[in-house]
Amino acid sequence: AKQDGRNTYRFFTAEMQAESARILLLENALRRALERDQLKLHYQPQICMTSGRVIGTEALLRWHHPDLGAISPAEFIPIAEASGLILQIGEWVLRTACLQLKDWMTQGLPPIIMAVNLSSVQFRRADLPSLVSRILDECQLAPALLELELTEGVAMNDPLGAIAVMNDLHDRGIRMSIDDFGTGYSSLSYLKKFRVYKLKIDQQFVRDLSDDPEDRAIVSAIISMAKSLGLQTIAEGVETQGQLDFLREQGCNEVQGYLFAKPMPAEEFGPFVQARTR
Ligand code: C2E
Ligand code: CA
Ligand code: CA
Ligand code: CA
Repeated sequence: AKQDGRNTYRFFTAEMQAESARILLLENALRRALERDQLKLHYQPQICMTSGRVIGTEALLRWHHPDLGAISPAEFIPIAEASGLILQIGEWVLRTACLQLKDWMTQGLPPIIMAVNLSSVQFRRADLPSLVSRILDECQLAPALLELELTEGVAMNDPLGAIAVMNDLHDRGIRMSIDDFGTGYSSLSYLKKFRVYKLKIDQQFVRDLSDDPEDRAIVSAIISMAKSLGLQTIAEGVETQGQLDFLREQGCNEVQGYLFAKPMPAEEFGPFVQARTR
């Protein structure tokens, strides 16, 4: 048993060493990728339930490393957050997404909402609201066309601080939504005070909608609660017609997911929107 214990100990050590080596490798590679402009944004349409039109898009980071291949944001965002790199990356994302929307509109695309994911590290910075305003000015974009997606955790960590930042952003005309809604611990009394206009129902509740009565109950409760608070709802991860039918029945306002489109490069997004507008 003692022998096993030692082996187990050594095994974990080796595994932990390999893991921290990968983190260090990725952190350095990520810094270089940012300098060399190797990060990209893909865009996934958000569809209005009643009109079927594209009314928004979510910007999602993509990183293809020349040797390591595609690395998921689920892996590299936490590393960027721990190292502080997320501040530069997040600013790049905001600016690139806003410039892209401006560019689409210049090309004649109807105005849509650009939703950008915001890390808690960015949200805690005192200069966030002025940074966002500056980027909107630079891009000559109306603030109401930008939506910042915050997770519940971001807001609930320090609700009073979050309310102050949200008020500031709201006063500047910038919209906010709560991402991955239902997975965190939002207190309903705070939800009322948060200056958000939309709840994004997490895809974990959408996945089994067709055969899990509990998920159906949760989704239905989120939508009716949002309605009574005057908030919009969007469901993410919609992949099947059955999920869509249930969400429509419940009165969900918008949907996003592979049923309509996967996140795509900017060049493909314009034609996608045009094809659905006609
Ligand atoms: P998220 O914000 O919850 O984004 C939704 C994720 O679901 C995306 O994964 C998207 O590609 C995926 N998805 C969309 N539709 C479907 C569907 O129908 N089925 C399934 N199975 N998945 C779908 P992705 O792009 O890998 O991003 C993962 C997470 O990384 C995001 O989760 C977000 O938390 C983070 N992330 C991505 N881009 C950024 C960014 O620019 N800044 C920050 N701070 N985080 C980001
Ligand atoms: Ca999101
Ligand atoms: Ca989400
Ligand atoms: Ca998520």
